[in-house]
Amino acid sequence: MKTVYTAADPIMAGFIEGVLQNAGIQAHAMQAGLYGAAGEIPPNECWARIVVVHENQAEHARAVIKEYLEAEADPRAKAWRCPRCGEEIEGQFTQCWNCGYEH
Ligand SMILES: [Zn+2]
Repeated sequence: MKTVYTAADPIMAGFIEGVLQNAGIQAHAMQAGLYGAAGEIPPNECWARIVVVHENQAEHARAVIKEYLEAEADPRAKAWRCPRCGEEIEGQFTQCWNCGYEH
């Protein structure tokens, strides 16, 4: 097993675990509580860790995570509101389903 990512937010760790599994990589999010009580381990060890089962998939996993995080940071990936009709559109769509406006 190899750690490919640490997340301060366990919910984020759960998302990344799912993203990796969807990409065909066996990965697990390991929460701090599973391997030690807070106070006995260094602060950054309290973060959730993403580990891949097969070390030879670590590089692929990192690339997938990077891509996912970049998509998250991309404003186009976030929900937007159509300026023409005011409909809220999910980020993966570039066109308003209601009136056809191109984002
Ligand atoms: Zn619209």
